[in-house]
Parts: sequence; C-alpha cells; structure tokens
Amino acid sequence: MLILVVNAGSSSLKYQLINMEDESVLAKGNCDRIGIDGHVSHKTADGRTVDADCDFPTHTEAFEKLVEVLTTGDAAVIRSMDEISAVGHRIVQGAEVFDRPCMVTPEVIDKIDELRELAPVHNHAHALALRACTAVIPATTPQVVVFDTAFHQTMPPKAYMFGLPYEDYEKLHVRKYGFHGTSHRFVSAALAEAMGRDIKDLKIVSCHLGNGSSITAVQGGKCMDTSMGFTPLDGILMGTRTGAVDPSAVTFVADKHGFTPDEMSQYMNKKSGFLGISGISSDNREITAAAAEGNKRAILASEMLAYQIQKFIGAYTAAMNGVDAVLFTGGIGENSWEVRERVCKNMEFFGIEIDEELNRSTRGKLMKISKPGAKTEVWIVPTNEELLIARDTLALISEK
Ligand code: AMP
Repeated sequence: MLILVVNAGSSSLKYQLINMEDESVLAKGNCDRIGIDGHVSHKTADGRTVDADCDFPTHTEAFEKLVEVLTTGDAAVIRSMDEISAVGHRIVQGAEVFDRPCMVTPEVIDKIDELRELAPVHNHAHALALRACTAVIPATTPQVVVFDTAFHQTMPPKAYMFGLPYEDYEKLHVRKYGFHGTSHRFVSAALAEAMGRDIKDLKIVSCHLGNGSSITAVQGGKCMDTSMGFTPLDGILMGTRTGAVDPSAVTFVADKHGFTPDEMSQYMNKKSGFLGISGISSDNREITAAAAEGNKRAILASEMLAYQIQKFIGAYTAAMNGVDAVLFTGGIGENSWEVRERVCKNMEFFGIEIDEELNRSTRGKLMKISKPGAKTEVWIVPTNEELLIARDTLALISEK
C-alpha cells in the first residue's frame, strides 16, 4: 500500500511516496519556487533523479509535475496515481478546531483556510495545495490532513493561557498552540519503545532542535506544555527567530525603529536568533565553527541556546514533578554533539549525566547517550514526521 505525504508551503511542495508494507521511501522530492518560476527535484530510492526548471504559476502546476515525475519518465516509480491508496498532508495550524487527523472535505479545506490569521505563512498555502491536489489526483483517492498543533491540544488551560484579558482568548483565540507536534509525538513514542517502557508511565522532555526549535513536556504520552506559543516564534533562540522576549522590549524596539507590526514580526522571525546575535549565520554548523575559532558573538549564541534549553528542562521537570528521559531530535539535536554536550553539562541535579565519548561519536541515529545508572536517561531520537503522517493517514483510511 502506497501513501503520498505532502508538505506544502507558499512556494514549495515537498513530497515522499512511502510503501507502508515496510515503511520505506520509494521516492521523494520538492516542486519548488511556485509562483516565482519553478524547479523540480525528484529522487527515487534506487538513485534515479529528475532535476529540472519548470513553470509553476500556482500549486496546481506543481501538483501536475509531481504526478508526472512519479508516473512517467526515467525516474517514475508507479504507472498511475491509482496505485496510491491515499495522500496525507502536513498542516501547521489546526487551532482548537482540529485535535486529531481528519479526512479532507471541501469544508475542512475552508476551515483550514479560515485559520490563516493564526498561521499567516502556512495555512493559506496549505489550503491552496489541498485544492490543487483535489483537482489533480483521482477523486477516488482519499486525502487526510495531519496537524502540527494537534498533539499539543492536551495542554491544560494553565499551560496554554497567556496573561492577556480573557476576551482575547475568547474572541481572538489568542493562546499557546505549540508546533512540531507530529515530531514530538513520533519521537516520544519511539523513545518509549526503545526504552522498553509503556509511554503511559514516562515523563519525557522532548527537545526538537533545528532551524525552528521547540521543547515539549510529554507525560504519559500526552503534551503537558510546550515552548512554542501562539506562533512558532516563542520559546528558545532559533536560527533566525528570537524565542521568548519581554513583550515590552518588542514594543520599545518597534517604536525606536519605526516598525509597523508586520515589520517588527519580520524582524523577530527573520533577522534575530542565531543570525541576529552572531551576525554570522542562522546555521548551527557555522555558529559552532565560529565559536570554536573564538568568535565571541558565536560563543554567546551557543551559550544562550544551551542555557535556555537547560532552563526548559528544569521548568518541565517541575511541571511534571519528575523526568525519566530527555531526548534530542531535529537537525541540531540529532547531529550536533557540541549542543548536546553543552546542554547536559552541570545538570547532575536533574540526574543528567552523559557519556561524553559516546555523545561525541554519535550522529543521526537512535542512541542512549546517558551514563549507565544515570537517574535520567538521555537519548538521541531521529524524527520522521512524514512517516507518522503516513501512519496516521493509513490508520484513518483503514477505519473507513
Ligand atoms: P532542521 O531544521 O531540523 O533541518 O535543522 C537544521 C539545523 O540543523 C541547522 O542549524 C544545521 O546547522 C543543523 N545541522 C544539520 N546537520 C548538522 C551537523 N552535522 N552538525 C551540526 N548541526 C547540524
């Protein structure tokens, strides 16, 4: 059984075709630069590729190209789209409307589009892609939407409310939603399995560290709290995003620079974080390299990141009244021994002690890196959001 997983942005359409018999990826790629010019890059499991400039005025042409590369030419992996059992779409913002995956209907697409005010960069693009997909793939192929926010819907109000007047929650829906939920759900379940424990008995701090980063307290398999908020800007320092900032500093800086709210939002989302602090790059590898050469602002950025993660581990240990395991995932969490080492230093009070040699020699694979006998286990757990979307899609269509 084949499931096509689609992750659509405003100018890109990333996809993976997954064979659910063995959960292997048959082909993956990206129809990119939609609305600009267009480019397709496609790769099959056996190494055949397509890399070509195209014309993608809208998501519809991008979907048509996706169908073309999957079904025709040297890098085709299927003969017709009828061989695909379902399409699973990643959706960023489901708000309080969607707390689990659901089948795509015209009403569901409209609702996702209506939520665009809560995720201006993403939800409208998702709706465009869903409409395009519906127009291009066979009408008999079911489609499922899986929401980044859904896993976090179990947070209690004391965790998700802000101290703004209550009417702003009631009328404007301003609250913490949290993001990366599909990743946190995938890695916390994978960790429980690796530990040989029932997830219902575990208190986990899940650190998803990438260009965007978030930390989640997972108790008994449910999200209790998470570091991202109303938007993915809140929480810890990121590639180009500030993470949490005193709101008064935001209004002060906007006033001094003469920024509109939109301009201030751009400033905090695109010009801040690693990039803004270091003045060098948003990329962890470049920051780590510059810090190793003694660049003071790169060292500061690295220290800020580790310190903020440590504080979240402490806060979430308090929120859950304990912690059994801390896990690292995402591009940084899986690959950067330097970040993991810095985070796990001076955390003995929390029972966190890692095997430094093992940490330094491990990259991108499932591995326990805490010392034997340490009270809190520390793990590297590679994430796979596409696979979880495919599993959710299969589960939902199997119910029908
Ligand atoms: P993601 O958004 O999950 O793709 O993660 C992107 C981040 O992971 C970037 O900051 C990269 O510098 C970082 N990253 C990727 N590979 C490595 C690596 N081998 N070592 C250190 N950081 C890495």
